[in-house]
Amino acid sequence: MDENYEVIVVGGGFAGVAAARTLGRKGVRVLLIDKNPYHQFQPLLYQVATVQLGVSEVARSLRDIFRGQPNVRVVVAEVTGVDVGAKRVTTSDGKSYEGRFLILASGAEANFFNTPGAEVTYPLYSVDDAVSLGGTLSNVLETADRADDGTEIHFVVIGAGPTGVETAGALAETVKYVLSDYFSPRLASRCHVHLVDMVPNVLNVFSDKSKEYAGRRLAAMGVQLHLGTPVAEIARDKVLLKDGTEIPASLVVWAGGLKAGPVVAGSGLPQGRGGRIDVNPDLTAPGVEGVYVLGDAANMTDAKGNQLPQLGSCALQAGTWAAKNILADRDGGHRAPFAYVDKGYMAMVGRGSAVAEVGPGPKRVLLNGPLAFLAWLGVHVVLLSGTLQKIRAVATWPSDYITHRRSFVVLSRPDSSHTP
Ligand SMILES: Cc1cc2nc3c(=O)[nH]c(=O)nc-3n(C[C@H](O)[C@H](O)[C@H](O)COP(=O)(O)OP(=O)(O)OC[C@H]3O[C@@H](n4cnc5c(N)ncnc54)[C@H](O)[C@@H]3O)c2cc1C
Repeated sequence: MDENYEVIVVGGGFAGVAAARTLGRKGVRVLLIDKNPYHQFQPLLYQVATVQLGVSEVARSLRDIFRGQPNVRVVVAEVTGVDVGAKRVTTSDGKSYEGRFLILASGAEANFFNTPGAEVTYPLYSVDDAVSLGGTLSNVLETADRADDGTEIHFVVIGAGPTGVETAGALAETVKYVLSDYFSPRLASRCHVHLVDMVPNVLNVFSDKSKEYAGRRLAAMGVQLHLGTPVAEIARDKVLLKDGTEIPASLVVWAGGLKAGPVVAGSGLPQGRGGRIDVNPDLTAPGVEGVYVLGDAANMTDAKGNQLPQLGSCALQAGTWAAKNILADRDGGHRAPFAYVDKGYMAMVGRGSAVAEVGPGPKRVLLNGPLAFLAWLGVHVVLLSGTLQKIRAVATWPSDYITHRRSFVVLSRPDSSHTP
């Protein structure tokens, strides 16, 4: 057993970092454990996956984040066991850490819903996923360029939620701008992007106006939409839909859904929708004292019992809120139910075009086109400045979108197992 801490935080994502920072500023002795030495910024992962940004632009060292907070200790290790009763976690190197309070903020992982063949797809949740996808994309293009044999290249994205729409849009722009610049217009003309979903529209949680706009923009960008039919089976060279359609595939991206990761699954806490923990309104886990579950690992609700979204801003606010509740607990005060400040939803469709539904639920303002694009930039710069203010993305990526410059960055792990 390692030394004792007041609070153990598992996960250095939006929720975990916000909680540890708030507690650290109040002098609480915190141990933050993450399997990676960095905090990742998922909203820009699709740009790493499409070889436009490098890793250092979407990830920041956890040690750097907590450099000025000596009472927050960072340990890089994979948590493999959780004892919620004892508020103790065990890591893969056999160490145990115990606290008076425990925060589980370990995020989510891809949910393949038992789709046959899904193991050949590339999910997009982590920096590792994005590097693997970007490396493979680069490899597919280099192989096709070398062969120069007229083979058609098909990129298939499964799932037309925000991640799938952003990835398909970025792939279409890669084909349009990057391939012509860095390879040849001939190769660009042989590349096709497909977006697949079982529901009949893209961005299903958005308003009809946003769905219609995003679908129209994607089609105009050359993305082939296959909507309203579930995927039956995936193979390395094709995606088969339940209506019999066969889409040829050189590379398949999985953006079809998420579920809570193994940390909460192994915690013994009762799991709800998506394998997540249905937390109490004050963000504590049900039936156990001093344990909080936050962000993508939790089903969090507002005061009326409505489900809160799996968003970076929601996770970040939950982290700060849980920290305040822990301080109240410690000081003999009262925990307050989480009051999420809803800033709306956004998705980037492509250069100069996004959809944004800004503001709290009933009063949402719907934007699309360049205005929504600017709103998207603004909101993400704010989100970045809360957690990752030093990453270079803030300086480079908006200007890349406004000008017609596109990068083709080096990613270090091309996966040679996928070739067109
Ligand atoms: C591709 C993509 C795009 C997105 N775009 C947006 C967007 O534009 N706007 C927005 O608001 N939200 C967006 N989201 C959602 C947002 O990123 C998440 O809701 C948010 O990151 C959740 O924060 P979290 O702290 O709960 O989890 P995460 O940020 O996922 O952090 C979890 C942390 O736990 C660590 N961890 C996991 N397992 C272990 C273990 N066993 N041991 C130790 N550490 C572990 C992980 O390494 C990670 O650092 C996007 C998500 C994705 C996947």
